[in-house]
Order: sequence, then structure tokens, then C-alpha cells
Amino acid sequence: MTQDSYDPENIFARILRGDIPCDKIYEDEYALAFHDVNPQAPTHALVIPKGQYISAQDFSAAASDAEIAGLIRAVGHVARELGLADPGFRILANHGTDAGQEVPHFHIHIFGGGPLGPMLLTD
Ligand code: 5GP
Repeated sequence: MTQDSYDPENIFARILRGDIPCDKIYEDEYALAFHDVNPQAPTHALVIPKGQYISAQDFSAAASDAEIAGLIRAVGHVARELGLADPGFRILANHGTDAGQEVPHFHIHIFGGGPLGPMLLTD
């Protein structure tokens, strides 16, 4: 996944517009959080900015300070709301082809709900 311009028909854009449903956890003016449809851990949430940003690079370069702070604060809020702050959790964002980013709207994964194993699976 490498592209230059934002695709307003990507699945997370459609969720933000309310065109398709999500299992919502949290929402504020900067971010929307919902459960991943194909969880990779007992708890697997996604936190996305409301602005149209393709990836981590795009977001870090083009988002305002308020949007960046808002997204990170939303991640913390969601982790607390899901009861993950004490036992612990992992956050991850895939950027581009080598990372296997599938959805071209920047998103942060939150994994938790049990021991998560090594940071990266290696053979
Ligand atoms: P990526 O590989 O781009 O970092 O992660 C995309 C994530 O979005 C995947 O974990 C995938 O399961 C999730 N996903 C894809 N389509 C949908 C959807 O329609 N609804 C929800 N809730 N999650 C989705």
C-alpha cells in the first residue's frame, strides 16, 4: 500500500461517514475508536484520526499539533476504558507496503487482554 492521495472510499473513511457500521468504543472531535473486525488478540481496538490522513508519515507531517495530541490522548482513553492500562497493552501502526498496511487511513492498533508474546514474530 503506497499511494499519494487520500482515497475517500477507503473502509475507515466510510466508517467515519457512518456509511458502514462499527463496534464503537470512543469518539471525540479528533478520533474514533472501534473494535477490529478480525481481532489478533483477545482485545484489539483501532483508533483513527477524523482527518483524512493516509498513513503514519502523512499524519506526522500534515496533521496539526491538536490533531496529533488528540489522537494520542484518545489512544490512552481507549486503553483505560478497555481496562488495559494496568495489565498492559501494545500499540502499533503499520505504514506502507513493507509493514503490510491494508487500509489507507492512518490507524493505531491497540492489542491487549492477555500476554502478547514477542514484539515481532520471527522464524
Ligand atoms: P492494517 O493492516 O492496515 O494495519 O490494519 C487494518 C485493520 O483493519 C485490520 O486489522 C483489519 O482487520 C481491520 N479492518 C478491515 N476492515 C475493517 C472493517 O470493515 N471494520 C473493522 N472494524 N475493522 C476492519
